[in-house]
Amino acid sequence: MTAKRIDGKVAAQAIRERVAAHVPEFERIAGRAPGLATVLVGEDPASAVYVRSKNRATAEAGMVSFAHNLPDTTTEEDLLQLVIDLNADARVDGILVQLPLPRQINATRVIETIDPAKDVDGFHPMNAGRLATGLPALVPCTPFGCLYLLKQELGDLSGLEAVVVGRSNIVGKPMAQLLLIEHCTVTVAHSRTRDLPATVRRADIVVAAVGRAEMVRGDWIKPGAYVIDVGINRSLSDDGKGRLVGDVAYGEAVEVAGAITPVPGGVGPMTIAMLMRNTLVAAHRRAGMADPEGL
Ligand code: NAP
Repeated sequence: MTAKRIDGKVAAQAIRERVAAHVPEFERIAGRAPGLATVLVGEDPASAVYVRSKNRATAEAGMVSFAHNLPDTTTEEDLLQLVIDLNADARVDGILVQLPLPRQINATRVIETIDPAKDVDGFHPMNAGRLATGLPALVPCTPFGCLYLLKQELGDLSGLEAVVVGRSNIVGKPMAQLLLIEHCTVTVAHSRTRDLPATVRRADIVVAAVGRAEMVRGDWIKPGAYVIDVGINRSLSDDGKGRLVGDVAYGEAVEVAGAITPVPGGVGPMTIAMLMRNTLVAAHRRAGMADPEGL
């Protein structure tokens, strides 16, 4: 059996087009376009690429991007002041502070300073708590994108056995909450899980968010399972060139799974699409408008 390849690029493009289609109506009512402020501290090349892509996607959707690039010597006080200013700026609907931050800055303090209504990354404890209690929230973009792909493939997820490998606040935990809301039976595995292969083998849905290249092997996958690979790991190919690989050994898993996301081209593009969606939704809520339909 060869698994269906779940194309995140196509799904992400469709979401971005739907976001863009809503912008003119928002502009007509609110008198301005939705705005996203990005904050990049330092010169980490991967972070710079991510932030540039986010700014480009914002402009492509017809929204306004406010890019703040700060030196890696920025103090926590200065960054907190910028966040406070962005909270007060009526043109800004979403604030994204790119992680990781330099060592002198406490990321938790920064996240807690972002106005929860503008927290388009969904990392503020208020949004995390609302998600955990089943209240409307701004949901972290990566797990939200994973859920979108799963629902697109499977429709109803009710009663399915889901195993999430990884328990970070950014991916694993919110992914588990989203799958619970969809009535899956959810197991969250992590570095202390005793028999990880046997745990993963139970799953109808596997979400791997570990950060270890090709850790999840083909013989861990139940035949026909749906596999979402969140991992982005840089690895060397046989010819010595750099390449990106996921947390799942794709070549093995594709022979066993029912459907699987590739790396790159799976979850990655969905993260940006969901950021655009969250920015549009935050703008509607801040303007006292109903959530945009079809997103
Ligand atoms: P993270 O904060 O480092 O968390 C990794 C999780 O994996 C932890 O819960 C850890 O367990 C668990 N883990 C580590 N080694 C393990 C092992 N041997 N067996 C089982 N579990 C293990 O990472 P993250 O931020 O969630 O990111 C995970 C991956 O997703 C990374 O590759 C990252 O680059 C990628 N990512 C991609 C996107 C995207 O847009 N596609 C977005 C975000 C992240 P403990 O808690 O016990 O330490």
